[in-house]
Amino acid sequence: MTDIATLGEFGLIDRLIQDIELMQPSSILGCGDDAAVVSYPQGMQTVVTTDLLLEGVHFDLTYTPLKHLGYKAAVVNFSDVVAMNAKPRQIIVAIGLSSRFGVEQVEELYSGIRTACAAYGVDLVGGDTTASLNGLTISITCIGELEPDRISKRSGAKPTDLICVSGNLGAAYMGLQLLEREKTVFEGMERSEDFQPAFEGKEYLIERQLKPEARIDIIEMLRREQILPTSMIDISDGLSSELLHIAHSSQVGVRIYEDRIPIDYQTALMAEEFNLNVVTAALNGGEDYELLFTAPLALADKLQNLQDIHLIGHVTEASLGCALVTRDQKEITLQAQGWQAYPQR
Ligand code: ADP
Ligand code: MG
Repeated sequence: MTDIATLGEFGLIDRLIQDIELMQPSSILGCGDDAAVVSYPQGMQTVVTTDLLLEGVHFDLTYTPLKHLGYKAAVVNFSDVVAMNAKPRQIIVAIGLSSRFGVEQVEELYSGIRTACAAYGVDLVGGDTTASLNGLTISITCIGELEPDRISKRSGAKPTDLICVSGNLGAAYMGLQLLEREKTVFEGMERSEDFQPAFEGKEYLIERQLKPEARIDIIEMLRREQILPTSMIDISDGLSSELLHIAHSSQVGVRIYEDRIPIDYQTALMAEEFNLNVVTAALNGGEDYELLFTAPLALADKLQNLQDIHLIGHVTEASLGCALVTRDQKEITLQAQGWQAYPQR
């Protein structure tokens, strides 16, 4: 491990930002000056979002490779931009590093960030680097471009609208359970023992937890199909919590159907192994980064035929509340059981 002090702050920054090429026409000036400069074509709007990740709160480096962490930190920001029905174009990355981290580790983190940028056509245009007392802190700000008439807020859902989700749910949560289990096994072992985590046949779950993707392909498909969601949100805290956000912002109620919730085969198997209810995992698990959106009922046929889109329910009047209809036709009130940063006392 090369101590960061041997390069110094400026040396490290130079190392991190060397050979960054700007790909977007909207990136006028990137890293290296006092600030970055961006410019979008006339008539376009700018979307800005930020996320702060703290070691021990949002990620665990015992099972998260730094490269994956960098990739995920970037992608979760892209996902927030995509959830507005916009395209991510630039990011700014601020990091706080304790003395535990050397030059190589920071380069690993950046290789993940840069891989995500290359995959999504996003430019890294600036950042900030500072020493910290303990742990790793990453804050990423993403700037995106939005056609003003295509904005999808949380507040536009109307009674009778259809409720749709992309992909499948609960896999990232099951991946996390698996990683936590293997961590516990690992910690209980003697140093001399050879540790092989039992991930075979569960690769998809691990990938969903460690390497999520932003569903930019979905917003592109909806655009091609001339479908404009009436409301949209990305699923970071679990379907239940995101539905309640839409219901609250749009002042509507929602009904979703248990048998309509898309769940992958590996997720279902894993849930059985852990003795967990798979629907609960899908409702409350989080970190799937799929899109949840509403669309007019008139588009039902069109939506039904789209690859990777699932119709899971419909929007109602607010007075009907928010509920899940189970397989045996019981109604269960939806509750936000997303991850709580500030536990209630
Ligand atoms: P200032 O003192 O003006 O904040 P810095 O020395 O912090 O300047 O940064 C110099 C340049 O390097 C700036 O353009 C900044 O955006 C970029 N930069 C600094 N840290 C990072 C980082 N971690 N990732 C990407 N760019 C960075
Ligand atoms: Mg600075």
